[in-house]
Amino acid sequence: MLWARGRLLLGSSVVAAAAVVAAALLVPALPPFVRFVATAPTEFWITAALALVVDVPLFGIGRRREVWIRPTATPGLAIAILLVWGTAPGYVVQAAAAVISAWGQRQGWLGGVFLVSRLVCSLAAAELAERLVTSVPITSRGIGLTNEDLLPFLALAGAWFTVSYGLVLLVGAAVLRGGIRGAAVRVRAELLRSLAQVLLVAPLLTVFTGWWDVLAALPMLIWNERTRDTLRGEEISRREPVTGLLNHQGLQARLEGLALYDPLRPRDPRPIGVVFVNVDATLAIGRSLGWDTHEKVIRAAADRLVDTFGADRVGRLTSGGFVVLVPGLTEVDALASATDVARTLQPVIVVDDIPFAIDPVAGVALSPEHGREFDILAFRAQLAAGEARRAHQLAGVYVKQSQDVADRRIAILAELRMALLDPGRYAEITVVYQPQVEVGTRRLVGAEALVRWTHPDWGPVAPTELLDAVEASEVMPLLTRHMLDRAAAQARAWHERGRPLRVAVNVSMQDLHNPDLPALISDTLRRYGLPPSCLAIEVTERLLVVDSARVSRAAEEIQKIGVALSLDDFGTGYASIQQLRILPLAEVKIDKSYVHGLVGNETKAAIVRSVHDLATALGMSVVAEGVEDAATASALARLPGVIGQGWHFGHPVPAAEFDEQWGRNRDSAGAPNPPR
Ligand code: C2E
Ligand code: CA
Ligand code: CA
Repeated sequence: MLWARGRLLLGSSVVAAAAVVAAALLVPALPPFVRFVATAPTEFWITAALALVVDVPLFGIGRRREVWIRPTATPGLAIAILLVWGTAPGYVVQAAAAVISAWGQRQGWLGGVFLVSRLVCSLAAAELAERLVTSVPITSRGIGLTNEDLLPFLALAGAWFTVSYGLVLLVGAAVLRGGIRGAAVRVRAELLRSLAQVLLVAPLLTVFTGWWDVLAALPMLIWNERTRDTLRGEEISRREPVTGLLNHQGLQARLEGLALYDPLRPRDPRPIGVVFVNVDATLAIGRSLGWDTHEKVIRAAADRLVDTFGADRVGRLTSGGFVVLVPGLTEVDALASATDVARTLQPVIVVDDIPFAIDPVAGVALSPEHGREFDILAFRAQLAAGEARRAHQLAGVYVKQSQDVADRRIAILAELRMALLDPGRYAEITVVYQPQVEVGTRRLVGAEALVRWTHPDWGPVAPTELLDAVEASEVMPLLTRHMLDRAAAQARAWHERGRPLRVAVNVSMQDLHNPDLPALISDTLRRYGLPPSCLAIEVTERLLVVDSARVSRAAEEIQKIGVALSLDDFGTGYASIQQLRILPLAEVKIDKSYVHGLVGNETKAAIVRSVHDLATALGMSVVAEGVEDAATASALARLPGVIGQGWHFGHPVPAAEFDEQWGRNRDSAGAPNPPR
């Protein structure tokens, strides 16, 4: 910390000292300059005019505060003026040209002050060095350079480089995170330009003056033109083609630029907020209405953010969200700021006369408290957005706890992976079965297999926590394979006892992306000698899946095998009517949130009824989840053919217990009403 403070102090003192010295040199130069101007020859005006315009091709390339060293072609011309017409015209023209260059390149006033002072100081040092080496100034010997001029000229050039780049490195080392080494790397490209100007252009112009200057200046103009193209290209590579927003690389660069030390607000480093706004819902648009419409919606949302926060602050990440950089953001107003971002996207977006609600949720992470690297900040902001979504809030600030959750997830992943790969640990992972009962007839039709995991040190891990950690990871297929195998073995056991129960296994939408899944299912059936009717696959869309084509291909293959595909948690999250169209489903499971409290709630009752009607019309069977009491069961019994699952019929229990409960009155449910 102390060192950081010291560095900042060093940086600002260097800038301040250079500014004072430059002012002390410039002010006394003004009266002689005014006198000189009265009689100045045309050659001088031509050279001065060139110095003022030579950087024009670079105009507009810069972003404020982002780069602290800007390309400039003015020193070569200024040194020539100094050599030919003397101190006062040299200083004044250099200062004026630097002001124009800094302004045109949007350097900001502080960067401008540094550029002007640096160039004036370097010029003064160059002149001083020349005087020290020789008592006869180079051009006082008349037009043209001789061998005697070489040594003084080299001294001049050496002094110019020492002071100019010494200042740049000192300030750069203080301001940039990479320290002096980082500064040196960035300076390299500009160094070449300076070498060519000071060693080549300056002596050339002392020999050829007047209109010849224009010819000499031409290559410099072209070089600046090229620099602009390179920088433009760089800028393009930092933007997204669809929206024109900053991409990952652009955001990273912008964040770095914003974090630079600003002596006006002496804090190390400048606070910045990274706001991530999740627009997952737009993916559903892509899936249902095509990517063309999706793109239009994204573009409209992007325009809205840019209008509010500026093109330099808004970016898009491939992981499905926008990022807004908010300079100066601290804990105090972090939440308000993130809420603002989400609010911007809240009003519906109308594309092709269709209104789209994109359901934004924002999360924010702060630099430096939560990290300094863009990737870390963006990830944490994303975590915060996820937490906010779970809590049904519009926005959330990253809190350390989210990281604990992330750490815990990583630990679960690693441990479960080992348990699944090591037959010696299989006993930790067990399967419980929950009965599925035809509500009208009380006939037991099947069971859902649910995972239970008891870690040797941590004890039981809640299934939802486990799935949150495992889903979308490479452990998911391992778990699915394991559960399929266990469930099939159990189905076989029931089959052998003359009870052809259908066992339902949960897979995630992610699993359906796996092209090996259908083969795995048919292979499992074969190994246990089971008819396909003994197995069902339940899919939930807890995470969004983009490639619906691949998903439906896998689903179709499963259907071909003859295994029923069931859409789980219907009515929640992303499991929507859309899926009924895309997937070849045999069954829909109405989520427990609609079934629970169905009695006495007309809305819920109406929803359950219409889902039942719709699914039946499409030839699918219907399971109502979360049937907790007799009243709900009898309300459901009015829907023909509906299957019920829930505590009223039975809790999820190990197979042995299941057999005990369902052994004697094998086909009628409701009698054993397990304790709550
Ligand atoms: P799910 O597939 O919706 O499973 C039903 C969940 O509701 C189970 O929670 C079950 O214990 C609970 N439940 C059953 N009857 C009732 C009731 O009457 N009222 C209420 N309030 N809840 C009831 P569980 O076992 O904690 O599982 C949670 C979720 O974890 C499951 O939700 C499923 O999405 C996932 N899951 C569990 N096992 C597996 C698995 O082997 N593979 C995959 N991919 N996911 C699994
Ligand atoms: Ca399920
Ligand atoms: Ca469910």
